[in-house]
Amino acid sequence: MFSTFEPYRIKAVEPIPLTTRDNRQKYLEEVAFNPNRLKANQVTIDFLTDSGSNALSCKQWSAMMQADESYAGADSFYTFESTVKAITGFPFIVPVHQGRAAEKILFKVLLSEAEVAYSNGFFDTTREHILQNKIKAINIDTETESRDFKGNIDCRKLEEMLSKEDQKVGVVVMTITNGERGGLPVSISNIKEASAICRKHNVFFYADACRFAENTWFVKTREKGFMDKTPSQIALEMFNEFDGCIISAKKDGLCNIGGIFATRQREVYEKFSEECILAEGHITYGGLAGRDLEAIAVGLTEALDEHYLQHRIEMVQEFGRMLEFNGATILEPGGHAIFIDAEKALSHIPRNQHPAWALTCALYVEGGIRAYEYGNLKFGYKDENGKEAFLHRELVRLAIPRRVYTMSHLKYVAEVFGKIMQNASNVRGLTIIRFPSFLGLFEIEMKEV
Ligand SMILES: *Cc1c(COP(=O)(O)O)cnc(C)c1O
Repeated sequence: MFSTFEPYRIKAVEPIPLTTRDNRQKYLEEVAFNPNRLKANQVTIDFLTDSGSNALSCKQWSAMMQADESYAGADSFYTFESTVKAITGFPFIVPVHQGRAAEKILFKVLLSEAEVAYSNGFFDTTREHILQNKIKAINIDTETESRDFKGNIDCRKLEEMLSKEDQKVGVVVMTITNGERGGLPVSISNIKEASAICRKHNVFFYADACRFAENTWFVKTREKGFMDKTPSQIALEMFNEFDGCIISAKKDGLCNIGGIFATRQREVYEKFSEECILAEGHITYGGLAGRDLEAIAVGLTEALDEHYLQHRIEMVQEFGRMLEFNGATILEPGGHAIFIDAEKALSHIPRNQHPAWALTCALYVEGGIRAYEYGNLKFGYKDENGKEAFLHRELVRLAIPRRVYTMSHLKYVAEVFGKIMQNASNVRGLTIIRFPSFLGLFEIEMKEV
């Protein structure tokens, strides 16, 4: 087998910021040990998120030059609409400025009389938008039997929850891939089973399909009966099971901004459109410029390219192996990120001194790498009674922007991690100085103990 390589060559280059260790130490102190508050030009490799951080292709740039910026009925809208229709099979398509705008409107429209919503793993803004409608948002456990599709929902549990007479279920949301479970995939057979259960109980079944293209590659390579199907065929078969979906174009749209709402339910579409005009803009632009609609149409198509997907998924898996080789304990790799177990890496730091946060600081000081804490600061360190408790695993997420970095960058990151491991006991724990309740992780201030 040959090494996997980027199925593209570079036409425009962007220098990345190079800094010294001393400078990084100073920058980190200036932002009170919160890497999320650094300026991007102080960061060499930015793995904060895979959202909106994608590189555009030459086809996207040229489509953008030809965009139609008319207020209503622009050509660019029809290009966007026909592409999304072809990929999803849904007849009603509305652009919005990003994924969360679609959530906000959809749940307002959908959940007027409901009491609870279920998911295989709600994304944080998705959960929050459901809660704002005074509706409970509950994650159902993932299936334990499936080795290859750990993003699957437990259908027995789902059936049990929907059979309860005492509460009205508003919607079941399948997150694909399952971002809250490490970006692990969901199988088509699981989606079909969940779909049948929702239909039987007359409950809306929507997809949060931000990383749907990455999911098709796992289906093609792991699920029986899909080997000979194209990613586009798999995507269509998947969307066919749903009433509709929301998509953030900042992930598998291969764009920097944008979102999509798509549905086969005329009544939902009509209500959604009214709200969209108020909140986002006319339904043929939805808060986006014509050039954004063009970039999304090309991006969605490119995201379903087999060579692109094969490289994308193999790159993430290979990155996981490189980190393990350098001493990391990681979660099973999904499609967009690697999650490192910080308690294994920094076993001398107790949970109340935030080992995952300490590792993000060490990655920055040692190598100019920015990562994201996925532990008791992100998920909350209080128990049900508001008492301090550290119940969550301490993970660090390294999210890989699409088409931005090469294998050499990933190799460098793995080496930096290896270097940290050699002197792991030097990494210090941290305590909180200030933790604003909302937007915590972007504003929090810490100090070393
Ligand atoms: C990013 C994301 C969203 C929200 O999309 P934005 O474009 O960031 O508003 C919703 N759900 C999932 C699963 C996501 O990954």
